[in-house]
Order: sequence, then C-alpha cells, then structure tokens
Amino acid sequence: MQENDIDNITQNNAAHSICSIISNSEVMPGVFLMWLEAADIAKKAKPGQFIMIQCGGNTLFRRPISIHRTEESKLAILYAGLGSGTQWLSKQKEHTPIDILGPLGNGYTVNNDDKNLLLIAGGMGIAPLTFLADAAVSQGKNVTLLLGAQKEEMVFPGNLLPDGIKCIVTTDDGSMGIKGRTTDMLSAYLDEADRVFACGPAPMYRTMYKNNLLMNKPCQISLEVRMACGMGVCYGCTINTRHGLKQVCHDGPVFDFDDILWDELVDI
Ligand SMILES: Cc1cc2nc3c(=O)[nH]c(=O)nc-3n(C[C@H](O)[C@H](O)[C@H](O)COP(=O)(O)OP(=O)(O)OC[C@H]3O[C@@H](n4cnc5c(N)ncnc54)[C@H](O)[C@@H]3O)c2cc1C
Repeated sequence: MQENDIDNITQNNAAHSICSIISNSEVMPGVFLMWLEAADIAKKAKPGQFIMIQCGGNTLFRRPISIHRTEESKLAILYAGLGSGTQWLSKQKEHTPIDILGPLGNGYTVNNDDKNLLLIAGGMGIAPLTFLADAAVSQGKNVTLLLGAQKEEMVFPGNLLPDGIKCIVTTDDGSMGIKGRTTDMLSAYLDEADRVFACGPAPMYRTMYKNNLLMNKPCQISLEVRMACGMGVCYGCTINTRHGLKQVCHDGPVFDFDDILWDELVDI
C-alpha cells in the first residue's frame, strides 16, 4: 500500500500526519503519556475516537490507540508498553517524527439533555474517558468517574484527571480507595446518572452483562479488539450485533451496550 492509498481511504476526514513528539513520560509503571504536535487530528478529534500509529521495530501493522486528550494543536495518548509496538513507542524521544492516521472511528455521544454522566474506567480504560470527561466538564455536565485498577501504583494519577469531576477509586487488593471492582460500585451511582459511558477490559463488560448491573440505563462502551487496518477496509475486526455485522474500527469502537450480542462475542 502506498502512502497516497492511505490518504485516499481514510474515513471521516481523517488525516495522515507525520507529527512530532512533544513529550513521552512514564506516568505509572509501564504506562506512558505521550503528547504529539498534530493539529490536523487534534482539532477534529472527538472523545472515543482513536489513531493508528506506525510503530518501528518488527511491527508491520499500525497499532490502534485512543485519543486521550487534546489541547489546541496537540493530542495525547496514554498507552501500556505491552508488546513490540508499544514498547518501541515508549522509547521514542521528543522531536522524533511519528506517523499517525486519525481521528478514526465513532466515539461517545453525549445528548444535550444528559446532565449527570457516570464514567466507568477499568484499568487502561481511563485513556479515552479522560477526553470525554474534559469535554463534558467544559459543557457544564456533572461527571462521576469510577476508576478501577489492580493496585495503588496502577491507579491513574489524580493530578492528571480533569478538575471538577467526582472520582471514586477502587482497587482489587484494597491498597487504595475502595477494595473491589468498579462494577461493585455501579449500583450506588446508577440512579443519579442520565447515561453511563464505559471503557475497560472484556471481563468488566461481561460482569455488567451477566449481572444486569445497568438495569436498562443507557450505556455506551468502547470495545477493544484486535484490528489491522483501522479504517474499515480489511473487515478483520467484524463483530455481530443486534443491527447486523459491524466493523469495530469503522462503526465503533463505541457501541451501545445493548447492541452487543455478548453471548456471541467470544474472542475479546
Ligand atoms: C480502538 C482501540 C483503542 C485502543 N486504545 C488503547 C490505548 O489508549 N492505550 C493502550 O495502551 N492500548 C490501547 N489499545 C490496545 C492496543 O492497541 C494494543 O495493546 C496494542 O496494539 C498492542 O501492541 P503491541 O505491539 O505493543 O503489542 P503486541 O505485541 O501486538 O501484543 C502484546 C500483548 O497485548 C495483547 N493485545 C494486543 N492488542 C490487543 C488488543 N487490541 N486487545 C487486547 N489485547 C491486545 C496481545 O494479546 C499480547 O498479549 C486500543 C485498542 C483498540 C482496538
């Protein structure tokens, strides 16, 4: 595929940008916050959308990473240095050029009538939800965030959260906040919420589904599946939903919770 092909097939005015790293620092063990100078993408991005990053090393496919935050011409990503792609990314220094495509996908939708938003972030799920919280606070919405992590050192730092939100921390081992899972706290905050927005690992969603924790409250979730092109071309991330086959990269990654056929979704 030539670079021009990439430019031709990107969706929704997505841009192909060689942008520059402003900073790249470890904010939790193995988790990095990178700021990029990427005006074309930052100015169009909406919460829940993502970028595809060309990583170096032995990686062939671009890696999908959520847009964590934007600030005028800059955008941030928050990523875990898991495998070859993200570990390569974690070693890149400021001023290094990075090849990205975005913004891609369909993000979260907040209705004008929604006044009280409940956000549920499981682990790295805080990445796109910070952007959503930023936008909601600037629109005068009340935001409550259930922020879960395995243990204290993996809790996203409070000083990096948007001002003006209510945050309830849970840790699996009780080393910080309330001992337990984010989903344990859901019922306590559900009544006051007009809408729920979640991002987290598959077991978090499965717990919500199996125990009917949402009690029919409208909820949007971001699905993380393996994807290759990120642009709706390869059909590698197709899932079956109540509205037929959907591509997570193009139709999602954000879906209504009730649209997902949870019993069929075996491989996330
Ligand atoms: C829409 C979307 C948004 C994402 N946003 C973020 C983000 O903001 N921050 C972040 O850290 N990660 C995010 N991810 C996950 C991220 O894309 C993968 O972790 C990344 O591709 C790993 O690349 P790698 O080369 O480092 O690891 P690889 O060598 O490819 O894999 C390392 C490990 O991660 C697992 N893995 C890889 N990709 C996925 C995946 N998509 N889902 C589950 N497990 C996976 C592998 O099974 C393996 O155990 C997102 C994924 C999607 C689809």
